Amino acid sequence: MNPQTESMVQPPVRDDYRSGFIALIGRPNVGKSTLLNKLVGEKVAITSPVAQTTRNRLRAILTTEESQMVLVDTPGIHKPHHLLGERLVHSARSAIGEVDLVLLLLEGCERPGRGDAFIVNLLKQQSLPVLVALNKWDLVAADQQDQAAASYDELLAETHWPVHRCSAISGDGCRELSAVMAEQLPLGPQLYPPDMVTDQPERVLLGELIREQVLLHTREEVPHSVAVTIDRVEDIPPKGKNPGRTAVLATVLVERKSQKGILIGKGGAMLKTIGQGARLQMQTLIDGSVYLELFVKVVPDWRSKPHRLAELGYGGGDF
Ligand code: GDP
Ligand code: MG
Repeated sequence: MNPQTESMVQPPVRDDYRSGFIALIGRPNVGKSTLLNKLVGEKVAITSPVAQTTRNRLRAILTTEESQMVLVDTPGIHKPHHLLGERLVHSARSAIGEVDLVLLLLEGCERPGRGDAFIVNLLKQQSLPVLVALNKWDLVAADQQDQAAASYDELLAETHWPVHRCSAISGDGCRELSAVMAEQLPLGPQLYPPDMVTDQPERVLLGELIREQVLLHTREEVPHSVAVTIDRVEDIPPKGKNPGRTAVLATVLVERKSQKGILIGKGGAMLKTIGQGARLQMQTLIDGSVYLELFVKVVPDWRSKPHRLAELGYGGGDF
């Protein structure tokens, strides 16, 4: 499917092996990235209560003895307000054209909205198989469950898409969902090496872990105005009593001076909190000790500048 992966195609494991690409599609904040992490059992995508957390079209790979599922996390589909937003929506929509199956996430604990109807109509125009996951089912009270599920009947009328209930947080229903997803894929060989969990380079994952901490600790306009670059990653070998560790130098870009002030915080307190949180996550990711140095830089209006977006990896095409 993807020319880059052709050279990596593995020999067939068995005749009835299934493989393919599955796009996770849904409104911002329905839990696409959380579910992707749960399904592959590792944190490869960052998540947060802030809408539009996901900016990269990240692939996560789940390999079992029966199948290999390549899950494509997408930025949520929403009404864009700036160039970055436009590119994010374009990225999510074009993912639909490149997969074998769509997993449509809906928020089980909420009533369907106009955003959901827009996405359902978009998917109805494709001939792709679609599975529906009513996520956040842990938030639906036991006596409300039938009513909550029924509230989606009208939205999904005439679709015949199978509907599953799940919680990406507790994991309830995820194993069943993953089994049904695998069954829907075409017969085919492994597309990626079996031990590969994501297609994103380590640098990107490291940058995302910093951005996640910014999203968790700041408010209002700051989260959306932030981008992260990883400037250097260096292995420091063990010396005397000091064990080896990885040094990471990174820059957090913001759009305004006032945002820089917020990020640094009183006496540097905010940057310290962000750095500590990111460092702990990085240590889990690379399974070793990390030294992290963070800088903050103002780049006015980077979200509206095509060359800045390209530099930051939010290019025009498939990102
Ligand atoms: P995305 O924008 O669709 O990728 O959504 P995220 O994965 O970033 O999740 C948005 C928020 O919803 C985060 O705060 C998650 O912790 C939360 N969330 C995701 N799935 C669930 C779930 O099944 N149950 C509950 N209670 N919260 C969830
Ligand atoms: Mg996301």
